[in-house]
Amino acid sequence: MKESFGKFDQKTLETNFKEAMKDKDFAYVTSLIDLDDKEVMKHTSKIERSSEELKNCQNCRNLHMCKNKITGFVYFPHVKQDRLHFEYVACKYQKKHLQETSSTCNYYEMPDALSKARMKDIDLTDSKRVAIIKWLKAFYDTYKTDPHQKGLYLHGSFGSGKTYLICAMLNELAKTERDITIVYYPELLRSLKEAFETDFATRINKLKKVNILFLDDIGAEAVTPWARDEILGTILQYRMDAHLPTFFSSNLNIEELEIHLSNTKNGVDKVKARRIIERIKNLSTDIELLSKNRRN
Ligand code: ADP
Ligand code: MG
Repeated sequence: MKESFGKFDQKTLETNFKEAMKDKDFAYVTSLIDLDDKEVMKHTSKIERSSEELKNCQNCRNLHMCKNKITGFVYFPHVKQDRLHFEYVACKYQKKHLQETSSTCNYYEMPDALSKARMKDIDLTDSKRVAIIKWLKAFYDTYKTDPHQKGLYLHGSFGSGKTYLICAMLNELAKTERDITIVYYPELLRSLKEAFETDFATRINKLKKVNILFLDDIGAEAVTPWARDEILGTILQYRMDAHLPTFFSSNLNIEELEIHLSNTKNGVDKVKARRIIERIKNLSTDIELLSKNRRN
């Protein structure tokens, strides 16, 4: 009894499968499955759904037109350990959309809008920016083959677009380089002061080792010997030794930053400030951005 039921079942599967194979999209999906027909037959209705969804894709030109059950995805078979599984795979429009919208830079204490900055949106009319844009483009192009280039010390007037320009390039790079951190430096120091010891160590470690680091607005912080020597000094020393690209933006040029770093409420310490400046110089190329204030 059991056997005859089994035979009957197998026969139905075969009939349904043969019938379904008349459809060229179904036959196409089936041709992609590297398994015995006997195994494949068990999944006729699921394969039918895949081929229906692929049919929808053939006439589709963008995500808004998507007719599939889950917008931007196709229900698709794949073989794993000789078994057939189905999963939702992103279509070409969805893949592009995900790439364009997912910035994987880790932003800390920075305005949200910066994560959307892109190189293609950079305003090229301002001739003073050309040298910087060229520099950023060269860094971007070379990064794949040389991930140990120097970063940038970009200084200049308030609102000239320093933060924006560096973020635009790093956001672009974030499509392939997952390990990028961008922090607003004055706020970082404030929050570290309040951090618990274990959290503190983890965070410093991350800043030391992240593949690319951008310390935004250095020189705008209140300097303490602790912040300068234990935090900044430690991070920069590590990154220098490991040749990890490090970016800075500042309203101060490097000489002004040296003076700024030497003054704490405990007095003036030119030697310690000089030590930090040497590390910054070692880690980055110094460029000035003079431009109108874009903040209105
Ligand atoms: P800075 O860091 O030099 O003080 P920002 O990078 O914060 O200046 O830029 C000031 C403002 O101008 C921001 O609101 C920023 O979004 C905008 N901005 C800067 N550069 C561009 C650009 N190339 N295209 C569009 N907006 C820009
Ligand atoms: Mg800025």
